[in-house]
Amino acid sequence: MKICVLPGDGIGVEIIAEAVRVLDALKSDGLKMEMEYAELGGCAVDSTGSPYPEATQKLARAADAVLLGAVGGPKWDVLPRPQRPERGLLGIRKDLNLFANLRPAVLYPELANASSLKPEIVSGLDILIVRELTGDIYFGEPRGIAVEDGKRVGRNTMIYNEDEIRRIGHVAFKSAQKRNKKLCSVDKMNVLETTQLWRDVMIEISSEYPDVELSHMLVDNCAMQLVRAPKQFDVVVTGNMFGDILSDEASMLTGSIGMLPSASLDQNNKGMYEPCHGSAPDIAGKGVANPLATILSAAMMLRYSGNNEAAAVRIEAAVKKVLAAGLRTGDIWEEGTKRVGTRE
Ligand code: ATP
Ligand code: MG
Repeated sequence: MKICVLPGDGIGVEIIAEAVRVLDALKSDGLKMEMEYAELGGCAVDSTGSPYPEATQKLARAADAVLLGAVGGPKWDVLPRPQRPERGLLGIRKDLNLFANLRPAVLYPELANASSLKPEIVSGLDILIVRELTGDIYFGEPRGIAVEDGKRVGRNTMIYNEDEIRRIGHVAFKSAQKRNKKLCSVDKMNVLETTQLWRDVMIEISSEYPDVELSHMLVDNCAMQLVRAPKQFDVVVTGNMFGDILSDEASMLTGSIGMLPSASLDQNNKGMYEPCHGSAPDIAGKGVANPLATILSAAMMLRYSGNNEAAAVRIEAAVKKVLAAGLRTGDIWEEGTKRVGTRE
């Protein structure tokens, strides 16, 4: 397996170093993998003038997977928009056609106090949100703000074609097959035609997955159910905008952003794997950032792009062991646990 490693900026450099150390350990245990480094974001702007330079494009396209730290920082916020680090991130997602965003929300028992909900509601929580990433109202045309009849009018268009729905549907059904065979599709079909089509297509492809139980929920109800009884969900599939909102909501059930990995996949399970958090300029360079979100992202990489469930499970078990041993970075530290740095 060929991996393109992009440490990026800020704490990205520190947390990627630890994820690579974990991968190296698996490598010395027989896992076949090659890692090549490239620049994305602010560091790339500094050395080449572009946030997603050609050399990085070449490596990323040729790799089976991309492992990313984080990009951005105050230093580059003064640049014109096309040169900002965030454009590098959008650029690589688009370039690699990463349409499926997978965000697990898992509550580790040791971190039960970090959740914003009561322990009895969240204990044992383990859900996966599958968000479509390249369509929906974010990209639909026509769009814009215009003056019509002397008034300003803002307009966006919610569009999905059936192929786009089908391909994210297949990713979600396959994920459900690997887990507890329960898939909840979230839409707003009572008022939005786009999502009526969404529901119709989900039902059509469900016949190809007879072992998966498909249910449907309106997005407003889902937002409520996620805080009322989140454990009723296993895999949730939804469009770009609903997924944006629901995955942020779900992430808070688990406590710290420093614990949350993500995967963004293309049609062939090539993917980019990164923590859900940003470059955390406030703690960059201090060696205190939590590397677990990135290490868990590496586990997702082995699971989805490497097709190596066993190696992924080994990494996840190691993370549980570290938490069980009472070791905590500052973001998840509490009374009675041992505060450690990124490297430890
Ligand atoms: P972006 O726009 O890139 O997502 P952001 O403004 O949302 O960035 P983050 O970089 O995600 O911000 O940081 C938000 C807060 O969470 C900061 O206070 C940061 O220090 C903290 N934080 C983020 N990631 C970690 C981590 N891995 N370990 C510890 N603290 C973290
Ligand atoms: Mg953010």
